[in-house]
Amino acid sequence: MLRKIGILTSGGDAPGMNAAVAAIIKTGIAKGLEVYVVEDGYKGLVNGCIQKADIAFASEIQSRGGTAIGSARLPEFQELAVREKAVMNLKKFGIEALVVIGGDGSYMGAQRLTEMGINCIGLPGTIDNDIVSSDYTIGFDTALNTIVEAIDRIRDTMQSHNRCDVVEVMGNKCGDLALYAGLATGAEIISTSEDKLSEETIVSQVKKLSEASKRSVIVLVSEKLYPDVHSLAKKIEEASGYITRATVLGHIQRGGTPSAMDRYLATTMGIFAVEELLKGHGGLYVGQQGNDLVARDIQSTLNMARKDKSQVLADARLLNSQV
Ligand code: ADP
Repeated sequence: MLRKIGILTSGGDAPGMNAAVAAIIKTGIAKGLEVYVVEDGYKGLVNGCIQKADIAFASEIQSRGGTAIGSARLPEFQELAVREKAVMNLKKFGIEALVVIGGDGSYMGAQRLTEMGINCIGLPGTIDNDIVSSDYTIGFDTALNTIVEAIDRIRDTMQSHNRCDVVEVMGNKCGDLALYAGLATGAEIISTSEDKLSEETIVSQVKKLSEASKRSVIVLVSEKLYPDVHSLAKKIEEASGYITRATVLGHIQRGGTPSAMDRYLATTMGIFAVEELLKGHGGLYVGQQGNDLVARDIQSTLNMARKDKSQVLADARLLNSQV
């Protein structure tokens, strides 16, 4: 019978990770388990940075942003000898199963550990919403709200001064943050990882809006699409006449108090993960599908196709480009 479980957060941090950790601790204790937290992801696992957690710790962290137990990247975890050290440390503590909260890189580590006899369940923790086997990831809603608030503020001043701003958001090859924020803020031009607009197209579209006397323009772009958004802003300014700046929202998108929806998702997923471990399951990854939580085989989720959102993008572009 399962007696001790561990938790780690891995990869990029996301608001709501703490709510998931808290839910796992509380559920585990409620079910008679001892729950341990691992500091700094797989790195802490390899270095033996493992501590017993209690309800007071869970209550203290559950509504905080970031991840209180730390996250780190450890590429060497792909090596068997390094993972063997991690398994040895887990055995030293008597920990037989683990919940891994992170992105799909982290699941590969979870899959490998499961193959080595430590049952692992993965939870999707990333602001990017780039995990195809879950409709939404823990952290996406908070980051989206941060972006929307930032763009609303930028809009106020662009509108007052008849200007244009290029806003770059995160997403790690997934355009959802740009798409959802574009729809929510009425951004006139949206360029996403899935449907990148060329610089020339953006410049000519802004020029058209300027000729039609549009008072302000927001050009919303996913990260890593253009070599330099500040030079893109200059090109827009020269062609359109709008005074144009670029705003790279950066890490502001990752921090902050998690939204109610992220806490809800994180908490329900945390409960679900412990229940799966108690059933003796491992090598699974929890995702939200419609209003349900599902546990899928980690290997199978890595090859799933991303949901096509091109119609939403087409609708947003049509609606927002009108003058
Ligand atoms: P994310 O989980 O956000 O996608 P990464 O891709 O950086 O972030 O992965 C996080 C960590 O997961 C890596 O630093 C590494 O420790 C572990 N990891 C990634 N890929 C593998 C793999 N193929 N085998 C074992 N561990 C892996």
